[in-house]
Amino acid sequence: MDETKELLKKKELRVTQIRCQVLEAFQENEHALSPQDLQALLGGLDRVSLYRTLQVLLDKGLVHKALEKNTQTYYALCDSDCSDHAHSHQHVHFTCESCEKVYCLEQASIQVDTKGYQVHTWNLNASGLCVNCR
Ligand SMILES: [Zn+2]
Ligand SMILES: [Zn+2]
Ligand SMILES: [Zn+2]
Repeated sequence: MDETKELLKKKELRVTQIRCQVLEAFQENEHALSPQDLQALLGGLDRVSLYRTLQVLLDKGLVHKALEKNTQTYYALCDSDCSDHAHSHQHVHFTCESCEKVYCLEQASIQVDTKGYQVHTWNLNASGLCVNCR
């Protein structure tokens, strides 16, 4: 709880119950979460508030979009060096073909020489079997 409050304060965001709940859910799960997952985990969340909360966290560099799949968007926590409106992720987003969970593979970062092209968004996707399903 304290950790989520610190995160929000660092980003100059007001500490609200829903923001803390959503951040905690991300911290407790190693895989990415869709709004549907969050509603199932947290129960009784107002859909509009949830979407608004995710948008704020996204804008402030606390969560990033891991994957968009079948009209669902999966979000994951950012590492500490994301700033407002600038996400700098170069890790692979892995979808498990068996349990269908989406993981951020932070360790599997990929160095690409973009030859002068300025990249704003990285979209590195992989699929296969996760460590639990292998
Ligand atoms: Zn980020
Ligand atoms: Zn799996
Ligand atoms: Zn990620």
